[in-house]
Amino acid sequence: MAYITLNKQHFFNNLDIIAQRSKGKDKIALVLKDNAYGHGLREMATMAKEYGISKAVVRSCVEAKEIEEFFDYILVLADTPQEKSVKICYTINDLDSISKFPKKTKVELKVNTGMNRNGIEMDELREAFFLIQKQELKLEAIFTHHGCADENQSIFDEQNKNFMKVKKEATALVEAFGGKELRFHSANSATLFQIDNFTEDMARIGIAAYGCIEIAKNVDAESLRPVLSLYAKRNSTRYLGKGVSIGYGASYTTLRECQVGNYDFGYGDGFLRACSNRYETPESIRLLGKISMDNSSFLSVAEELLIFNDARVVARIAGSISYEILTALKPYLKRVILE
Ligand SMILES: *Cc1c(COP(=O)(O)O)cnc(C)c1O
Repeated sequence: MAYITLNKQHFFNNLDIIAQRSKGKDKIALVLKDNAYGHGLREMATMAKEYGISKAVVRSCVEAKEIEEFFDYILVLADTPQEKSVKICYTINDLDSISKFPKKTKVELKVNTGMNRNGIEMDELREAFFLIQKQELKLEAIFTHHGCADENQSIFDEQNKNFMKVKKEATALVEAFGGKELRFHSANSATLFQIDNFTEDMARIGIAAYGCIEIAKNVDAESLRPVLSLYAKRNSTRYLGKGVSIGYGASYTTLRECQVGNYDFGYGDGFLRACSNRYETPESIRLLGKISMDNSSFLSVAEELLIFNDARVVARIAGSISYEILTALKPYLKRVILE
């Protein structure tokens, strides 16, 4: 079976750099949604705990329960609670959902500052405070999400300005409603690496921790190392003469006599079919023909093949982003932690 290795030294190196920028590991909330970006939820949670990370961010209740033992605080981005937990905190994404949370649930309020995807509108803040109090929820924090931290400076600036306003208004509302002091956060990986002086209560870090951030001319970002590598095992080998085609649709024809190996990693396992005929491994071994569901052919007869060790390279060839390459990796692939 194809398998994944996770490089613990690289992960800890990345966390060192992130902690330096966030001014402390207690400020890092490690984003572990989607099976920890395909790396393996429990494997990454175990290593994060060993490093001393105490906060995590996931999408669902099920994910939160799975890693509850590893963290002190877990933020669920998009789910309604099934059972109460002192550690798990749920996101309010719009006003209508507030009445659906069971009383006493810990919540964080997401505010839309310009990405226009999730979160209440800025002018709904007072109404949200009112409904949260009425529903007897425990409001812990207010946060927003950037859509353009690494792509459009003026939208990034605008969102930051809006979040400043939200902080000010929310602080006044806490006094008016008599709640406890709130925490505020807005930074994802790109934001943390983009700004020079991080001052918020927490940063929600995904891709930087996995070592696959793409941000131009940034010394710290360049020191991050990819954590995940993927290896495949050989199913079979064959000798092919010149002018013979390989695989579905006969889309590749040999240029000369060669030895070809077929390896057990296909699009069903998470190898984007867009890489067909275009991919070359880090050891410059060519992929030949179309990627099949469970296998693909390479110009190699090695028993085991390193398919990739940097999802960004695959992403460039597939016309995608590292996030998609990584989260495509199926949970049943074995994950091995390299100490
Ligand atoms: C996924 C996600 C993040 C992490 O983003 P990265 O770019 O991987 O750091 C942070 N916040 C929210 C709300 C997210 O959905």
